[in-house]
Amino acid sequence: MNAYLLGYTGSMQRRGVSNTSLAVTAEGRTLLVDLSGSPVQALKEADIDPATIAGVLLTHTHIDHIYALPSLLHQLWLGGRTEPLTLIANGPTAAFAKRLIALFDLERKKGFFPLVWHEIEEGDLTIGSLSLRLFPVIHGVPTLGLSVQHHDKHIVYLADTVYTHMWPSYLQGADILIHEVAGLSEKEETLAGKGHSSARQAAQCALDLKAKRLILVHLPEDPKDDELLLKEAQALFAPSELPRLNVPY
Ligand SMILES: [Zn+2]
Ligand SMILES: [Zn+2]
Repeated sequence: MNAYLLGYTGSMQRRGVSNTSLAVTAEGRTLLVDLSGSPVQALKEADIDPATIAGVLLTHTHIDHIYALPSLLHQLWLGGRTEPLTLIANGPTAAFAKRLIALFDLERKKGFFPLVWHEIEEGDLTIGSLSLRLFPVIHGVPTLGLSVQHHDKHIVYLADTVYTHMWPSYLQGADILIHEVAGLSEKEETLAGKGHSSARQAAQCALDLKAKRLILVHLPEDPKDDELLLKEAQALFAPSELPRLNVPY
């Protein structure tokens, strides 16, 4: 199993980098987690064949996590997909995504492939050979966190979330924790008010969960702040890293 970051910014995009989204691959199948930028283009940049997409997880309704859904579906249809596509989301996010799909009349296109919805607030699911566990995180709107396992490799993705001690015990010991960071600890109160975490809190979460490695994502607009965020995280949790596009984690 490998995870690839297809984007890693917060709401504001950077030159050459789109909003946070990822692809998780194993045994020739791909799970996409959130949809930003141009997903098919991003997959090609990462050398992942879009035809291998088995499922899409949409964590929540905020625009930076969901806006590219119509484009992905349109591209897959243009590419000749006939295989059903699994879409995973909590109830409010699924309802929102369905409106987005209806707006573009995508399902009325000739030969459009079937969409198979899994509406889930908390629980387990299998996509290809990937074992997913989904759980609610604390954010401004209902939001899902993801734990994904394949054989003995374990990746946890905490998208937009405030810091808490209350994570499910099965998140413990992840090989890689991919965690959002919206700023430095001096702004923690403001960040929490907006449903986000500081670099210090992401590092504390990695410590709490006994993760082996922490990748900081959902970064603020200015790349000049990256090193400060990294330093703050590393002061608490040494194996903290800035994100890199299109490399296998
Ligand atoms: Zn976001
Ligand atoms: Zn959000």
